[in-house]
This record gives sequence, C-alpha cells and structure tokens, in this order.
Amino acid sequence: MINKFSQKTILTLALACLGSAIVFVLFAVFFSYDSSQSSEKNAKVHTDQPHESSQISLATSPQGVKTYSTPTPEHLKNNQQTIIEQTISVSSGDSLSTVLSDMGISQQDVYRVANARDANSELLRIRPGQDLSIKMELPSGKLTELLYVQSKLKRSLYKRQKDGQFSFVVLLTQPETKRIYKEVTITNSIFRDGIDAGIPQSVLIQLTQIFAWDIDFATDLRKGDSFSLLYEENELEGEVIGAGNILAANFINAGRSFQTIRYDDANNFNYYTPDGLSMRKAFIRSPVDFTRISSKFNPNRLHPIFKTTQPHQGVDYAAKSGTPVKAAGAGTVIYAGELKGYGNTVILEHGQGYSTLYAHLQGFKKGLKANNFVEQGDTIAYVGQTGWATGPHLHFEFRINGIHKDPITVSIPHDAPMSKNVLKRYLPYARTTMTELSSHYSKNFSQQYTAVLKRQRSRS
Ligand SMILES: [Zn+2]
Repeated sequence: MINKFSQKTILTLALACLGSAIVFVLFAVFFSYDSSQSSEKNAKVHTDQPHESSQISLATSPQGVKTYSTPTPEHLKNNQQTIIEQTISVSSGDSLSTVLSDMGISQQDVYRVANARDANSELLRIRPGQDLSIKMELPSGKLTELLYVQSKLKRSLYKRQKDGQFSFVVLLTQPETKRIYKEVTITNSIFRDGIDAGIPQSVLIQLTQIFAWDIDFATDLRKGDSFSLLYEENELEGEVIGAGNILAANFINAGRSFQTIRYDDANNFNYYTPDGLSMRKAFIRSPVDFTRISSKFNPNRLHPIFKTTQPHQGVDYAAKSGTPVKAAGAGTVIYAGELKGYGNTVILEHGQGYSTLYAHLQGFKKGLKANNFVEQGDTIAYVGQTGWATGPHLHFEFRINGIHKDPITVSIPHDAPMSKNVLKRYLPYARTTMTELSSHYSKNFSQQYTAVLKRQRSRS
C-alpha cells in the first residue's frame, strides 16, 4: 500500500513512534532487560565503531524523556533508556548489513528490517548517495525505526512492532508540476536550438519521437522551421527536479503544420492529432537505416540502353550489406524466398489491401517463414545484393490493392484509431489544450502558422 504524507504528517508519525518506542523501552527495562550485557555491547558499538558521516541528534520526546546525543556510562549505569538517532549516507561498496552494523545494529535486527512485510526487500537495493536514518534504543540496542531515503520524492519508513517485526510504509512527496511553454525557430539543429531555449534534452527527444512519423529529422528540417510546445516540469521546493511529458506541440516544417496532444485514457497514453488520430502510423516509410536513396520510384523509367519503359516499382535504399531490414508494418509473411531478378525476397501482407516487398536481401531473419506474424519494426531480413543488383541495397515496394505506390509520397494511414467513446471524451480536451497552447504563441509564430493554414486551405 502506498500512502502520501506531508512533512508534518511524517514528523507527527515520527514523534508518535518515538513515544511508543519509549513505552516499549519501559516494558523492556522492567521485565526483561539484562543491563550488564547490553550496556557493554552498546558502549562498545558507539565507542569503537564511530561512522564519520553519522549525525547524532539531541531531541526531546513528547513525553519529556530526553534523548541524548551519545550514551554515557552514567546513563547506562542508571538503566536510563535513551533513543539515539543517526543518519548515514550510503557509499559505494556498502551493503545494508555493513551500514547498519556500523551504526551498531544487531544482525538479527538487520534481518528483521530487511524482511519487513510487504516491503519487497527494497532495503537490499540501497544505492550510493541514498540516506538511512535510524532510531536505536539504548541500552537494549534495539533498532526501533529506520527511514530509508531513496530520493527527494520517495522515502520508506520501517517501524518496530510489539512482536519485534517491522512495519513498512512508503512516504511519497509529490513534486509541484508546472506547465512550461517554449517556442523555438530552427537555425542550427533541433537539439542545439532547443537546449539554447532552455528545453531539457529529454523533452526534445520526446518531441522528435512524437513527430518521427511525419518529419524525418535527419533530412526534412529546414532553417526557419519552428515549433511551440507545452510540457510539464517537476519542482520540489523551488528546484527543478525533472522534466515531465510533452502535453501539446505545434511543429511547422517546410510550410506544413503538425500538431499533437498527449492523452491518457485508462492508463494508456498516446499522442494524437487534434482530430483524434494516432501520431503513430501503420507503416514505417523507410524500413532500413540507409545511407542514400540510390533509385527513386519511377513508373515511366526509360531503360538507359534499350530506351524502353522499364518502370521502377519501388525505392532503392543503399545500405551496407547485413544492415537489418524492418517490417514496415505489422502483418503476415506471405513469401520468404528467392524470386527471379529480385533475389532473396520477403513479402508481407498487412490487411486492408496493403502489402510490402523487400528484395535483394542477403538473408532472412533466422526462422522467418511464410505465415509468420511480424510486428512493425521487427527485423525480418538483412540488406544484400542478391538477384539483379549492382551494389548492396534494399529494393522496397509498397502496394495498395496490388497497385504500386511511391513509398516516399504515399499517404500512410494512422495506427490504431480511438474508439468512439474515447474520441467523445478526447475532442473537448484536445480543443481546450490547443487553445491553451495557442494562447502563448508569439506574434511571429502566429503569423507563420496562419500562413501555413492559408496555404493548406488553398491547396484543398
Ligand atoms: Zn529497385
């Protein structure tokens, strides 16, 4: 179970725990405490094994029983129960056992706290830089409380129960989430200009991933392209502790505008166009990492020697032999073998009349055969120059209802449409979000966007 606590709640909890610990101590002292053994042990622990980074605090419990910075022989002699607190920062090479032993905790208590119920043994995964704070009762040497500070946002509190086992609760601090607006005109590169504008790199990576289906960032970007975006930034006590998600963006590339909105529905999030179409497309336009396009789609290509029409029904992507070839879309293998001229060839059928063909392959992905189902992006084969090919390249064909289309320009359908119910909830949200985004547009960006809209309208 996960609970959210404010600092105040934690403090109250800590004090309450301290109180109950003291009651427990009193029981222990009166009924079962063997003073000579334990005091010797604890005196030894705290004199012989001081830890450099430990802090021992002086505090007063709610009951007015003093807790002392260090146990003194005087206290121990008088059987006066004392709670000491220490905090240690985990260093590299530390284990839970070594850290807690350094603080004077018995191996039995180390075992008990590490195995606290429902704690998922997370204490065994302590990392350098994290803090462990303990409260230990003297002179019994019992660990009464352990606070494991995993990060600024997450702490776990382990408290000793009457039966000696430890309870466990996660304390989460919610950062303050702010919505940040940025606008960038590209002069160098998306990353250089974006970082200059103060956008975290992780947000820029998100941006290129979201628009990867519409914009080839390696080849399509032009000087003067611009984008505006709204994203989340997490702050804790005024300090930025990390960038969150892109909420909305408008990317103007080569006189076209692409807009996106993040939408979460039933624990699934995705990026959509303002109309509710997925930003993802059903097909990858170029299913190989290529070095250059060596031959374009050309239905009227004249043979250089015979001067007859010899259509080039696909695109040739030059790439090193052995470069993986990916399935352009999810589908079924309907052919994997040799074809005259094409050499080693794979044909995939994607449903709704779509099929793709990959030729001149060096070889197939191990085990690939007809009737296999493949996901978009799965490696299906490797670039080669089998068949009639003068150099290693992938010959890629894209057909709709058997008719060859230019893979570079064909209009590619969007992936996985929203259900009608989701769309109904999405559309009002999309409108509000786009209104919020556009309310921030600079005059310059507004003008650029208006010009794009005008051009798009006159085209249609
Ligand atoms: Zn070709």
